[in-house]
Amino acid sequence: MLRDPDVIVIGSGPNGLVAASVLAGIGLKVLVLEANPKRPGGAVGTEEGTLPGFRHDVGAAFFPFGRPSPAFRHLRLEEEGVVWRNAELESCHPAKDGSVACISRDPDVTARHFGTAADGDAWRKLAAWHGKIESTLLDALLLPVPAIGPMVRIGFLNALKLIRIMTSSGRGFSSRLFESEAARRVLPGLALHVDVGPDDRFGAALGYMLGLTATTGGYPVPEGGAQSIANALVRIVERHGGRVELGRRVSKIVVRGGRASAVQLDDGDEIAAKEAILANTGAPSLLLDLLPPEAVPGRVLGKMRAFPRGWGTFKLDWALSGPVPWSSELARKSAVVHAGESLDDLSEFTRRVRSGNLPEQPYLVVGQQSLADPTRAPRNQHTLWCYSRVPPSIEGGWSAHRERFADCVDDRIEGLAPGFKKKILGRRIVAPPDLEKMDANLVGGDLGGGSNAWHRQLIWRPVFPYFRYRMPVERLYLCSSYAHPGAGVHGMCGFNAAHIAARDIG
Ligand SMILES: Cc1cc2nc3c(=O)[nH]c(=O)nc-3n(C[C@H](O)[C@H](O)[C@H](O)COP(=O)(O)OP(=O)(O)OC[C@H]3O[C@@H](n4cnc5c(N)ncnc54)[C@H](O)[C@@H]3O)c2cc1C
Repeated sequence: MLRDPDVIVIGSGPNGLVAASVLAGIGLKVLVLEANPKRPGGAVGTEEGTLPGFRHDVGAAFFPFGRPSPAFRHLRLEEEGVVWRNAELESCHPAKDGSVACISRDPDVTARHFGTAADGDAWRKLAAWHGKIESTLLDALLLPVPAIGPMVRIGFLNALKLIRIMTSSGRGFSSRLFESEAARRVLPGLALHVDVGPDDRFGAALGYMLGLTATTGGYPVPEGGAQSIANALVRIVERHGGRVELGRRVSKIVVRGGRASAVQLDDGDEIAAKEAILANTGAPSLLLDLLPPEAVPGRVLGKMRAFPRGWGTFKLDWALSGPVPWSSELARKSAVVHAGESLDDLSEFTRRVRSGNLPEQPYLVVGQQSLADPTRAPRNQHTLWCYSRVPPSIEGGWSAHRERFADCVDDRIEGLAPGFKKKILGRRIVAPPDLEKMDANLVGGDLGGGSNAWHRQLIWRPVFPYFRYRMPVERLYLCSSYAHPGAGVHGMCGFNAAHIAARDIG
């Protein structure tokens, strides 16, 4: 037991662990309290969920920010034992009509497999331009708002071009750039990883970032599973004298003299923090449940009660007797395969989810980790990971729908990979309530830390004027994906919050 911590971090998701690593690294005594009794990492973890010997990622599985994120570069994850593995191709977008577009880290390979020759050429030019600005762009988007230095460094003409892209809808940008349906469905399909549909205003930004980062570092997976990232971060915290305690749910933050001074745990324990408390929790949970109501301005309480959540997530894991027999040769080599026939199919999917209905043709993000990392499954066998986006709650409850919807997902994969169902040895269904049970931040299965729509970003994340990690109570900081820059495993919410807390601590 670590006594008299300087800093308490509530939650051991990647952002909480990054914040703890940074603060422990500058000599502060850091205690991380994690509700999950089994493992650290929040939505970044790995469990044998189907059959013995098959290791499935419980949440995040592909890590485009794993190498380029300033937080992970600073912490040198690779020196802590994280080994990145890439599949031969990064993201494949096949359709039942046989058309396909595919992203590779090699621009020539992508150009050959991106709809038409003209589309391949357009992609090659876009990727070449992106490669030149990526590191400055990542600084501009990931560092605390406003990241003036990187914004200036990006240059006037590049900035104009970026503004034109980022103010478009996914459909608008894709249709302007590409002529084939195969190429047009790629970037808007990627934006549906969160709750951004093809026709949403400013929706091109997310698809652009996910698609173009795949051209540089790709979508790598860590050897052994996502858990190895969380475990590496725990080792860094502990090497600097910090401690991560599991099965320790924080139920209250004690405020004395306007300052966050201690936490109370479910089991009745109270632990004081000498310098600061960082919350790797949901913003509504922090401001409505953990803090006493008199410590939070009434306007903020109102905003949190009406907090706009992202969509739910319906996840599946399979143990397979062999690789997925995709009709598309490219899909057989790709880390991630996306199911979505066309822009119109993706728009219809978005409408169904927004109207609270289960999609009949679910859009799918399918992950083939064991292609790049054979340690995930017994010899010659494979794991498969997949999610679709769904309404956070559903009439009749999930228990009435989960099996049928899971069968619908199987059917969609079978349509693109005849013979898939025959390879299934085991299947695990993870519906929105299961995700929330595993990690309280995933409310209704929302994987994005709240909505990722344009008006929930930058100075509006999680609520104006608290967008720079400091909360309405002194020495209390929000360090989860509910803060800027939001969802994804980049650790930057934790990294930025830790630097601001360190500055305040002096
Ligand atoms: C199914 C799924 C697939 C995803 N796929 C990807 C992907 O491929 N690539 C990618 O980059 N991102 C992906 N994401 C998103 C990514 O996992 C999240 O954006 C990221 O994990 C957010 O990190 P975090 O540290 O903010 O919070 P989390 O990872 O959610 O961790 C929060 C932690 O805080 C703990 N906690 C909360 N409240 C308390 C409390 N009161 N007391 C103690 N502990 C508490 C929780 O138990 C949890 O461990 C995915 C997410 C899901 C769910």
